[in-house]
Amino acid sequence: MARTRQRKRMRIDRKARMQMPPVHAQVRPPQERVHDFGEIYIPYTAEDAQLEASRCLHCPNAPCQAACPLHNDIPRALGLIEAGKFVEAAQVYRETSPMPEICGRVCPQTLCEAACVLNKAGKPIDTRHLEAFAADAQRQAEGVPLPELAPASGKRVAVIGAGPAGLTVAESLTRAGHQVVVYDKCPDAGGLLKFGIPNFKLDKSLVDEKTRWLKQLGVSFRFGVTVGEDVTLAELREEYDAVFIGIGTSRVMLPHYEGDDLEGVYCATEFLTRGQFTCDRQPQDAAHFAPGPRVHVLGGGDTAIDCLRTAVRLPGVTEVTCYYRRSEAEMPAHRQDYQYALEEGATFQWLTNPVRFIGDEHGKLKAVEYQKMQLGEPDASGRRRPVPIPDSNFIVEAETVVLALGYRADWSFNEHSPDLRVTTKGLIEVDDPLSGRTNLPDVFAAGDAVYGANLVSPAIAAAREVAQVMDAFLKGTDGQ
Ligand SMILES: Cc1cc2nc3c(=O)[nH]c(=O)nc-3n(C[C@H](O)[C@H](O)[C@H](O)COP(=O)(O)OP(=O)(O)OC[C@H]3O[C@@H](n4cnc5c(N)ncnc54)[C@H](O)[C@@H]3O)c2cc1C
Repeated sequence: MARTRQRKRMRIDRKARMQMPPVHAQVRPPQERVHDFGEIYIPYTAEDAQLEASRCLHCPNAPCQAACPLHNDIPRALGLIEAGKFVEAAQVYRETSPMPEICGRVCPQTLCEAACVLNKAGKPIDTRHLEAFAADAQRQAEGVPLPELAPASGKRVAVIGAGPAGLTVAESLTRAGHQVVVYDKCPDAGGLLKFGIPNFKLDKSLVDEKTRWLKQLGVSFRFGVTVGEDVTLAELREEYDAVFIGIGTSRVMLPHYEGDDLEGVYCATEFLTRGQFTCDRQPQDAAHFAPGPRVHVLGGGDTAIDCLRTAVRLPGVTEVTCYYRRSEAEMPAHRQDYQYALEEGATFQWLTNPVRFIGDEHGKLKAVEYQKMQLGEPDASGRRRPVPIPDSNFIVEAETVVLALGYRADWSFNEHSPDLRVTTKGLIEVDDPLSGRTNLPDVFAAGDAVYGANLVSPAIAAAREVAQVMDAFLKGTDGQ
């Protein structure tokens, strides 16, 4: 009844709502933000959040909700934000998402926001930052309430990988009454949320807060344990009733170049981690990592953009250039982050491929040799293939090169787990992405380890579904 009344009111309001100017979350000016690693968005004030939420047309088919991998009930949450009921709005997000304060910061524009019908008028609702606003308002007002757990089942589950997929499964299964132990080779939880995505996109304290909350819920963590080396999958299967694998695609693609062992040549993960963390793994504000004045980043994806934006923030760096083998049109990076990189002073050299890295007599990088490319016929990705132009090589001086050429599966895990079936790309084979069942009856998987490098919200969405299948398996109600 209340919903019908609300819909009726929305229909009357629709025209007025469509005419309202957007109140999008503001970004700190580039001249200010390049001096620190703090988040670039200025949080919404309550008043602005209410104004922005009040532009929602509450479309009956809710395209934003359909486009959200987690299917958050965005229109209902926006209705509550409009009414000033921020904690209630946060609870709506939490019905479907275990970490709205994180998704609201890291989800790209291409999901719920891209589906907003107001895009037609060029002023979509800022759904992502409203999600972060509501979740933060709840955290700051009363903290995230601990849910009641189902009665203890007596079953034990090992989760391998404390990234968003593993943490989602750990939370769901703990709530369902199972005892969960998460293993991770890193010293902290979060996976790429902590050791990949830069702090200027996602404040790491939010990941730590989530980890503390999970510990309070009853999840146990064993950090610094590499499954496959310190303990095997077979041993975990012996010890636990079920195992979830959420190990991501943690290996950086490293094609071999002459000189790639020189000091000053980094892979993206190492550069991002060294660039942002001091020895005690707090986001950096001290000048502990000074990679030299000229930094070249190789690649054209989101990771390359994150490396460029990290480099411009580092002390002593004066020139930051991206070298990409195709043109701007083919670059896969999300456009908004590309714009931010430009604003922050990074420059781009298109149609350029590295040939070799040149060192000085001390084994330190001093220059990079590149070759010019041109675009040929489309390749398997549908994008035009870069083809070398003969006799077009040139040399550019640089003290640091970052290889941001993509991520791949970790074959060493697979080699230590010979019973587990994997694809030709080393990804874990599952019968159906929504079940996450591997060829081993008590072993399940989701996230990047199954689909390859992707995004946070699809990893959470898949893990949420797989946790339900695991719960049924543990309770013996899955009919298998
Ligand atoms: C630089 C960068 C920036 C990104 N930015 C964004 C963004 O802005 N928005 C977005 O939506 N997505 C972004 N992504 C992608 C996103 O981070 C991933 O899709 C997501 O984290 C995948 O989650 P996951 O849980 O499957 O894996 P991961 O987050 O990779 O977590 C896997 C975990 O498993 C652990 N592990 C691996 N092997 C073992 C082992 N043998 N034993 C024990 N532990 C192991 C790892 O240490 C890690 O903690 C970015 C990725 C990168 C690299």
